[in-house]
Amino acid sequence: MSDASTQLIHHPYTPPEGFASAAPGVFKASTVLFPSVAEMHQRDWRDKSGYTYGLHGTPTSFTLEERLASLEGGLYCTLAPSGLSAITLVDMALLSAGDELLVPDNVYGPNRAFAQVELAKWGIELRVYDAMNPSDLAAQLNSKTRLVWLEAAGSVSMEYPDLPALIAVVRQANASRARAIVTALDNTWGAGVAFAAFDLGVDISMQALTKYPSGGADVLMGSVVTRDRALHEAIQMTHSRLGLGVGANDVELVLRGLPTVHLRYARQDATTRALAQWASQQPQFAAVLHPALPDSPGHAAFVRDAQAAACLFSVVFDARYSQAQVEGFCDRLSLFGLGYSWAGPMSLVVPYNMPNMRSRPWPHAGVLVRFAIGLEAAADLQADLAQALAAMDAA
Ligand SMILES: *Cc1c(COP(=O)(O)O)cnc(C)c1O
Repeated sequence: MSDASTQLIHHPYTPPEGFASAAPGVFKASTVLFPSVAEMHQRDWRDKSGYTYGLHGTPTSFTLEERLASLEGGLYCTLAPSGLSAITLVDMALLSAGDELLVPDNVYGPNRAFAQVELAKWGIELRVYDAMNPSDLAAQLNSKTRLVWLEAAGSVSMEYPDLPALIAVVRQANASRARAIVTALDNTWGAGVAFAAFDLGVDISMQALTKYPSGGADVLMGSVVTRDRALHEAIQMTHSRLGLGVGANDVELVLRGLPTVHLRYARQDATTRALAQWASQQPQFAAVLHPALPDSPGHAAFVRDAQAAACLFSVVFDARYSQAQVEGFCDRLSLFGLGYSWAGPMSLVVPYNMPNMRSRPWPHAGVLVRFAIGLEAAADLQADLAQALAAMDAA
């Protein structure tokens, strides 16, 4: 073995064992090497007792999975390349032709779209329920129902559902069924910080790590956590058949963000509440939607079940303002970026066309705008909102 090119690939040096740093190591591989064929046959990646292939986990991805399971009070975690792929992974792991799934009318939009378009091709039917009305959920369960999605608070419109009551509806139905209906919570808003999802009784908690766990607005990733081993194994096997993987550099970013998640959550919560409170006193808004505000739908359930709130609130402009005026308001903001996502350092703003996003009638006439509050100072953000409102009124 004299050729340098060969030597560089089959190099004899191995670094000493025992490198101990506070930061987890970042290991990268497609191929994982085995010392013998016997070992190759024996190794099992599913219980994290060994490594077999990059897609099946590395010390880096196993570490993030274990930490996320702890954050959420679960036992098992599977990583997916985005929050949305974590949603579609749950759907594909659990649903077969002839099954039905339910999503709340205020669900994260792409969750509904995947079911409407993609799952429909496979003979799986979508039903939509009113998250604020447990008896509406009860009325829509039938022998074909297999999966119920939950979300707290609802995307964009911020209604806070009575999760224990919705879960109780499903449990009651399960008492007389051979095959249980599974509940899956999109826990991106709660992030494992605002409330303990498994203590409320959900079977699956999915998160867009893109939001709080990363916190940097620089990575896309999702997670699916369970306490139930059989449920986890079903998800894990579908995950491996689909070939979903996450890059080690991205896992590193989430591992780096995780230790500050509670700090960022608390700080962004405080700023968001202050701004939502201020907004509720401005005459330009017909409604301000944040579950900590007494008039916001689901306020009582929020106070009972949640210890904190995410960095989101929405405003409904008074109906006298046109779409163009509201869009002008958004354009005039200087500290709020115009863009999707949230829970990063920079505050963001997006106008939404609510009637187009709902199956049921949307109760407000004015245009809705959602704010995602970052890590800037509350006073600066408030001044920015005030100047854009004043400019809108002056135009
Ligand atoms: C952002 C988001 C997702 C999707 O996450 P991506 O990583 O952007 O795919 C899912 N659910 C909720 C509630 C979200 O806010």
